[in-house]
Amino acid sequence: MLDALVIGAGPSGSRTAWNLAEAGYSTALVEEHEIIGEPCQCAGLITPRTFEYLGYRLPVQQEMNGARLWGPKDSFLSFQAPETKALVIDRPGLDRSIANKAQDAGADLMPGHRYLGHRRTDNGIVATIKGRKGKFEIDTKLLIGSDGPASRVARDSGLSSRREVLAAFGADVEGYQGIENHVDLFVGSELAPRFFGWGIPTGPNKGRIGLATVLPDRPKNFFRDFFHKGAPSKLLGGAKIVNRVSGLIPFGTRNPSYSDNVLLTGDAAGMAKPTSGGGIYSGLISADAAFEVADQALQTGKFDSKTLSPYQKLLQKRIGGELSKGHHLRKAFLSLTDDQLADIISILGEPKVRDAIEKTGDLDYASLAAFSVLKAQPKLIKFAPLLLKPFI
Ligand SMILES: Cc1cc2nc3c(=O)[nH]c(=O)nc-3n(C[C@H](O)[C@H](O)[C@H](O)COP(=O)(O)OP(=O)(O)OC[C@H]3O[C@@H](n4cnc5c(N)ncnc54)[C@H](O)[C@@H]3O)c2cc1C
Repeated sequence: MLDALVIGAGPSGSRTAWNLAEAGYSTALVEEHEIIGEPCQCAGLITPRTFEYLGYRLPVQQEMNGARLWGPKDSFLSFQAPETKALVIDRPGLDRSIANKAQDAGADLMPGHRYLGHRRTDNGIVATIKGRKGKFEIDTKLLIGSDGPASRVARDSGLSSRREVLAAFGADVEGYQGIENHVDLFVGSELAPRFFGWGIPTGPNKGRIGLATVLPDRPKNFFRDFFHKGAPSKLLGGAKIVNRVSGLIPFGTRNPSYSDNVLLTGDAAGMAKPTSGGGIYSGLISADAAFEVADQALQTGKFDSKTLSPYQKLLQKRIGGELSKGHHLRKAFLSLTDDQLADIISILGEPKVRDAIEKTGDLDYASLAAFSVLKAQPKLIKFAPLLLKPFI
């Protein structure tokens, strides 16, 4: 019987498996795709903090220290931060590197294998896996669901709960006319209703563009418009699509994110930030928290939900506060009309407000910038009183 079976070799699953294997536990890491990291479902934007947290660095395609915000009614704003705020990376490369760490530490990496379901027994869990030669079973003490936004482990463990799920669509393009080291962001109901679109330079004349929407608005339809409508079309004249990207972004921490013999990490546990949709950094945090609780359980030989319950407290302590502030900010954002968005963009351009954003803007902790912006210009509160809620 295995100590731990981890489902999904994305960043959070591979990090969990790496931790477990390094601590000497027998661990298998099951991934349904043959090639780890493919197909890519990400824009590949992370903070420098993410590499620090990971403990090693990978090559970076671009360092970002600026942003341009394109809004309704031709509203526009450009920021230039004093230091690097974000890094553009090869996301499949990141996934492969963490999976390799897990394998090097002794985890049994099983690409091309799909988790189909599980049943509990007196001793632990029996998971059904479908591999190249057909179905088979794996006995394990702990089952870790790191299987992304549509987590089957969560569903099979009775941990599914209603949450907001965004659909995203994007592409790598050649002929992108952005500015080096600057991210382009597009907001407004005509371009990217209820979320935002992005354009990220990845090299000379190359970029990664996309947007996310809430169904029934389909991101693919808005993505098509990028090429001939509004601000994105100014940056995409004649650009050619090289590679398409799509995926889901779930918002809302699962509570609980554990049950008897089961822990969830990453998107499966609802770790994506409601402000940016980013989930790599917070997924890694959840992976480490899951490992600490799993380690305790494996040492004591107890795997019931009460023994695993400290996991939720660790999540709350390490990232939950920021995620719930992010939910308030998202609610406030959803309440805004296009006219209000355009007005806000003009206020954000006031020197003291812009200054606050440039200093405190942080992809992982967006609430810091929101707080400093409100301090710099309290009249912003009139647009969304909800904004105040996380800070009082
Ligand atoms: C278009 C898009 C752009 C994004 N851009 C960014 C960004 O720039 N920065 C950022 O931080 N975040 C971004 N995100 C979010 C980020 O991709 C996720 O938060 C992150 O991948 C979560 O990591 P994870 O390990 O929890 O899950 P995932 O990376 O989704 O990994 C889950 C793994 O489980 C596997 N799996 C699923 N079901 C099974 C099964 N039944 N059996 C076996 N394997 C299974 C999947 O194949 C996958 O490899 C973006 C998301 C989308 C959709």
